[in-house]
Amino acid sequence: MNSETTFKFKTLFEEQKRALLCTRKLASEDFRLQEEDLADEMDVTSSELETSMKMRLRNREALFLKKIDQALDKIREGSFGTCDDCGDDIDLRRLEARPTATLCVSCKEGQERSEHAHIDGRKPKSLGTRIRLA
Ligand SMILES: [Zn+2]
Repeated sequence: MNSETTFKFKTLFEEQKRALLCTRKLASEDFRLQEEDLADEMDVTSSELETSMKMRLRNREALFLKKIDQALDKIREGSFGTCDDCGDDIDLRRLEARPTATLCVSCKEGQERSEHAHIDGRKPKSLGTRIRLA
């Protein structure tokens, strides 16, 4: 990957990270207000629901942030855009669609296939195989 393209992704990741940290700060301020309101409202069910939704959102944000940091690390190391698995270059169109991708298309497909195989493992016949393997 040429340095111009790498720089483009670096800028993109830094912007995404900044935006993410910013919304996170706003969300936590909002969260604090909600807790203060709780005593008056007594609407525990909906606020619990909201809390769990926020937690889920926060987990997803944290995961995304981690991926961005990993991508920025790779840019620093000069390994950005190469597949974690086979070391081949990841297709640029794939990276543009999903900048935090760490696997090339064929490795990703292989991974998805093994995930599907895992689901098939619930069938009684393959379950037996799985137990024997374990
Ligand atoms: Zn690969």
